[in-house]
Amino acid sequence: MLIHLSRADALALAFDIMTHAGARPEVAGMIADCLVRAECDGVLSHGLSRLPDHVASIRAHWADPAALPDIVQVRPGLLRADGGNGFTPVAASMARNRLTEMARQEGLAALCVRNTHHLGALWCDIEPLAEEGLVAASFVHSRPRMAPYGAKKALIGTNAMAFAFPDGRGGAITFDQASSVLSVGDVRRHAREGRPLPPAAGLTREGSPTTAADDIMNGGPLLPFGGHKGASIALMVEIMAAAMTGAAFGFEDHSSRYPGAASSNAGLFLLVMDPAITSGNDATERFMHLIAHLHSDPDIRLPGERRHANRAHAMQNGITIEEDLANILFSLRP
Ligand code: NDP
Repeated sequence: MLIHLSRADALALAFDIMTHAGARPEVAGMIADCLVRAECDGVLSHGLSRLPDHVASIRAHWADPAALPDIVQVRPGLLRADGGNGFTPVAASMARNRLTEMARQEGLAALCVRNTHHLGALWCDIEPLAEEGLVAASFVHSRPRMAPYGAKKALIGTNAMAFAFPDGRGGAITFDQASSVLSVGDVRRHAREGRPLPPAAGLTREGSPTTAADDIMNGGPLLPFGGHKGASIALMVEIMAAAMTGAAFGFEDHSSRYPGAASSNAGLFLLVMDPAITSGNDATERFMHLIAHLHSDPDIRLPGERRHANRAHAMQNGITIEEDLANILFSLRP
């Protein structure tokens, strides 16, 4: 059975769960916003189903719900943030206005975040920047859950990257993807629904190919999309999100010392560019020209367009969540 929630109900539910778990109201609001936006956009692997993970990491004393990031401008185009073991979307939200001003001033600006937990979809951090006319890319690494090309055990995270640019009409074209064939959140959904994974998505713990989601839930590694190409993207993300920000590498994770911990203490690298400054042109025209060219084939759909259609539907009609998830969420609410 499906349970209907309005967007406002979903926000209130997520906010209440986070404040009950110890988050300050402003932190709870930013996390609720990120998760509900994902749910409304149909990114179900990183929507409300992630709230129990937030609570589990807090209860395990692995993540600190009261933390606020310490954000310092270290160069004209560089912000460095220590998340204080809190949640990454808080640092990204709090830095957004300054980062925007810096990119408009310098042409390029970056935010390096370490010591935070990112349980969300990456587009949430960057799409608002593209809606303001900027181009943005972000990189987030995680605990090892993926075997690099040729390996049989999990040595690296499902390291995600996202990229967004303005569509010239106040919106954005955004892609956002794990470097594994599918994200851990999606594997869980397949396991719950008893659906097989796509071919070449993962291995058993013993290293044999499998399409059984339970094999991955039981510790088998996921595999990179596109073979060696996805593995190289994961490597780049590890460098950008960990080495470049001062965060621990995914394989240095020590969450296993915190029984119940359900997140990675990791890094985020977010790069923002003002295309009017970098190109010296009317970039808006150029973006619109490219998008119109691609849409000259009626069969094409661009990344993010599915999400935006879901968003429009959710704004009108609210969302539905499965009864099992609703019951878990209601049990976490005071
Ligand atoms: P998907 O494979 O579902 O989608 C990846 C991208 O491809 C999306 O931008 C999607 O747009 C686009 N896309 C999908 N199908 C098409 C198509 N037919 N034509 C054109 N574009 C298409 O995403 P993943 O499963 O890899 O990742 C899901 C989420 O998990 C992401 O939001 C990611 O940030 C998150 N994640 C977060 C991690 C973390 O540590 N925080 C780690 C790993 C993943 P659209 O959305 O419109 O379908």
